[in-house]
Amino acid sequence: MNRIAVLGSTGSIGTQTLELVRCLPEQLQVVALAAGRNTRLLSEQIAEFRPRLYHSLLPDRVDAGDAILATPDEMACAEDVDTLVVATSGSAGLLPTLTALEHGKRVALANKEVLVIAGDLVMEAARCNDGEIMPLDSEHSAVWQCLRGEGGAIRRLYLTASGGPFYGWPDERLRGVRAVDALAHPVWSMGRKITVDSATMMNKGLEVIEAHHLFDVPYSDIDILIHRECIVHSMVEFIDGSIKAQLGVPDMMLPIQYALTYPQRRASGAPRLDLTRPLVFNFEPADERHFRAIALAREAGRRGMTYPAVLCGADEAAIELFLQDRIAFLDIVALVEDALDAHKVVTKPGLTELADAERWARQRVMSRSSGDAGRGSLQLGTEHDD
Ligand code: MG
Repeated sequence: MNRIAVLGSTGSIGTQTLELVRCLPEQLQVVALAAGRNTRLLSEQIAEFRPRLYHSLLPDRVDAGDAILATPDEMACAEDVDTLVVATSGSAGLLPTLTALEHGKRVALANKEVLVIAGDLVMEAARCNDGEIMPLDSEHSAVWQCLRGEGGAIRRLYLTASGGPFYGWPDERLRGVRAVDALAHPVWSMGRKITVDSATMMNKGLEVIEAHHLFDVPYSDIDILIHRECIVHSMVEFIDGSIKAQLGVPDMMLPIQYALTYPQRRASGAPRLDLTRPLVFNFEPADERHFRAIALAREAGRRGMTYPAVLCGADEAAIELFLQDRIAFLDIVALVEDALDAHKVVTKPGLTELADAERWARQRVMSRSSGDAGRGSLQLGTEHDD
């Protein structure tokens, strides 16, 4: 029995994690549920899964039954929690992840920003305390599965990318993209932030940084391949030239189940790849001169220190503005680049410095998009036709 705490239980990964608990009641038990403002769904989840602990940003509105109010951090170190499922977004998952690892627990990690912002601190916490990180992202789960039974000897990682909903679109066409367009991803059904990140390809950039930390591979040995079919979830090339890939129908239930039943595999109801019919795979190296977001993320990761925190803070703030129709689609990445250029780096940052850098980047983006716009090289909010 794997006893789990789910942070972000009402989100996309959170609800799919609970769906998996319904399928594997003998293997998984819910000890704690944490959500933000969706109190109605959280109340339903508490009634169904009867966790010992719960957390909400609006606890007065939660019908919690016998469950006890607790912070995510308390859940992360609770004695009856074996695995912390971090399905939050932004920097919300960072402290609980560190706490769980410091207590030698497993962390099933979907919250990208945790590794992007504080990869060095998080990996060190895992190493020093025998904590374990099980990636929930499809690409990292694929690499993790390919590496199983291997003793290193990696030459290259190939992270695959769908290319997002606007693949191949020229800039003139991207200028007209609105929030509703960006929120309709052709393949994966995900939360709003990550869906926009997929459209700008920043998502892939963040995944490069995550992969670097998770698998200890230099940035120069991590490539992005556009793979529109979304069947190969990533690949590993070894020093002898052999390449291993993990394939499957795009469905997050698979990586979630792999992480939560690891090291076992269990039968699942996930849709199967039909290999009785002809199937064609295409791979195309991502041109990082065109996908500026990937190049920026790679550079921020390479420089390290507080740069990745600035990348995350700026990206999150810019996406909020875009979703409110206050800036144009192409402004998102331009604002991130502006923040990275203007940032005064802090060497050897701890959690405080990382949080400060992230906050600074958010404020920078907000100030550049209101009033200051146009004074510098950015022309913000001018692309809408309304
Ligand atoms: Mg992914």
